[in-house]
Amino acid sequence: MIIGLTGGIASGKSTAAEYLESKGAIVIDADKISHQLTKKGKKGWQLVVNEFGEEFLNADGEINRKKLADIIFSDPKARKKLESLLHPLIIYEMKEKAFYYLEENKIVIFMAPLLFEVGLDHFCDQTWVISSSKKEQIKRLKDRDNINKKDAEKRIESQIPLEEKEEKADLVIDNNGTIEELKEKLDFHWEKTIKIVDGEFMRVALIAH
Ligand code: ATP
Repeated sequence: MIIGLTGGIASGKSTAAEYLESKGAIVIDADKISHQLTKKGKKGWQLVVNEFGEEFLNADGEINRKKLADIIFSDPKARKKLESLLHPLIIYEMKEKAFYYLEENKIVIFMAPLLFEVGLDHFCDQTWVISSSKKEQIKRLKDRDNINKKDAEKRIESQIPLEEKEEKADLVIDNNGTIEELKEKLDFHWEKTIKIVDGEFMRVALIAH
């Protein structure tokens, strides 16, 4: 079973994923994979250097992520280009990792801010959106990243509206309350998921028998 977990910026994806991990899920984080693939000498790093040039490298040969982020946010064409280079690599890596854990009958979580945008949802059995109001997103962004309201709004607006993700999702989990309330909701859905996975496992075992 693969669950695709997504949401808006600072809506609580990592908080939810971390909790599900503590309950036994295997979390495969698209952002982490992207970071690993763009480390010096890795495939993604090579593609970035080929496309953007060595002026985007630090003295130690690692990508200057701040410089790359600046051009990506100011130039939509550059952003599209970078995404078209990296997304196939990230998706491939996530699928490879998932395959290994699925053989062990684990529940795998694909945590990806752009789950629907890159088509990762097609590899998921279920999609869950962690949802917070814009007001909460701004408050949490300001606290976590120490930025002002205007910058928080800018970051939220650079993404597709959360409502669009909610419409596509199998399940929308409201995260406007406390973290404890979020955990209670996750407990409920996790138990339901385990029952589905166990039921499926029994069915396959019976057929095999
Ligand atoms: P990003 O898109 O930036 O990666 P995210 O969706 O993974 O963010 P989190 O990092 O989980 O979001 O949450 C953003 C911040 O809000 C964190 O500091 C987290 O501790 C806090 N937070 C999450 N849920 C709640 C909640 N229900 N109540 C209070 N704070 C919360």
